[in-house]
Amino acid sequence: MGFGAPQTDFDVIIIGGGPSGLMAAIAAAGEGARTLLLDKGDRLGRKLAISGGNVTNNKPLSELLANVPGNPKFLYSALTQFGPADIVQFFEGLGIRLKEDDHGRMFPMSDKASTVVEVLVRQVQALGTTIWLNTPVSNLVHRDARLTLMLADDKRRLAAPAVIVASGGTRVP
Ligand SMILES: Cc1cc2nc3c(=O)[nH]c(=O)nc-3n(C[C@H](O)[C@H](O)[C@H](O)COP(=O)(O)OP(=O)(O)OC[C@H]3O[C@@H](n4cnc5c(N)ncnc54)[C@H](O)[C@@H]3O)c2cc1C
Repeated sequence: MGFGAPQTDFDVIIIGGGPSGLMAAIAAAGEGARTLLLDKGDRLGRKLAISGGNVTNNKPLSELLANVPGNPKFLYSALTQFGPADIVQFFEGLGIRLKEDDHGRMFPMSDKASTVVEVLVRQVQALGTTIWLNTPVSNLVHRDARLTLMLADDKRRLAAPAVIVASGGTRVP
């Protein structure tokens, strides 16, 4: 581990600034938590920006889940708490106009995924989230009821009562 006492300025630290991390930051900072959003890249929402911008599907939840390959039950809890209608309301509340395409898919009127990235990042910033780019995390340790993470570059350590790992899946070629 690194040297010195870990920095403890934040209530919530989020590793990864993709759509999951951005939504987590909006939820945490929106509740008044001192929130730090870290990303190893030089931009937030990089993968989201190259996606199709399809933010949700307007079909009833049962139909939506019936079309999820693999393990739709895994999504049931999350989607009953924050489902397609909530997602539409959330984005429209942030000022994006959405349109329904074929098969109930919901896209921004602009047809640009970058519109989605922009409103998410703007909201994260408006809520006072601290953002550190070019900051890879190399290690996360849970010990004695404390979460401590280490920054890869300078071996600095940060500790917080809550750490959300939103580091995504495999790399896009
Ligand atoms: C071409 C394409 C089209 C797509 N179209 C759609 C679509 O229309 N609709 C849809 O819903 N989805 C679409 N997707 C999928 C969507 O982009 C992903 O599901 C989504 O980006 C996953 O979000 P995430 O936040 O979980 O992960 P990511 O977007 O991968 O974000 C993870 C972040 O964590 C950071 N990170 C990783 N490790 C570390 C570390 N050690 N330290 C610090 N930071 C770290 C990464 O730099 C990254 O910014 C598409 C994807 C692609 C590639």
